[in-house]
Amino acid sequence: MNRYYLYQKTLGGTCVCIKPEQIDGCSGQEAQGVTSQLLGVVASEPGIFEVKATGDIPAAGSFLLLPIKGSQQLSLLMEVHEIASLITPESSWSARCSGLPQSDFQLRSLDAHCDRCGKNESIEFLQVTSDLQADALQGLNMFGWRADEHTQICQSCNRGVDEH
Ligand SMILES: [Zn+2]
Repeated sequence: MNRYYLYQKTLGGTCVCIKPEQIDGCSGQEAQGVTSQLLGVVASEPGIFEVKATGDIPAAGSFLLLPIKGSQQLSLLMEVHEIASLITPESSWSARCSGLPQSDFQLRSLDAHCDRCGKNESIEFLQVTSDLQADALQGLNMFGWRADEHTQICQSCNRGVDEH
């Protein structure tokens, strides 16, 4: 897995369990998942997290969406590897997950401009490496734009291209 976040907002204090096939769903379409109340997230080692929550127990191989403070568009994405039930509080669980390899990331946003129709859109992304431009381009492409160093094509123009 080389993506550590998803363009879907998760409410603070909750986490949402989704199936792997929902990650690559149509952009702009929210993945409907099962919401649990978040108790805590601890990074046990780089890229490995213990997520504790109360609610339906997720299956190994599913993914968790976690809120990102201050973000209107993004959630952290983690793959569930192992689950354990906790004795207290009632119906709580602990999931060992893999995600963002470093604990440090910056929430950023950019004003994207479509070279085809002229539309402007403010798009959030996470800076997770020292290469800001590459991180921004990855975000744009995950958001549904087609973007490289030279051109940026918005979601709707990009869809138009795919239909031909
Ligand atoms: Zn456009």
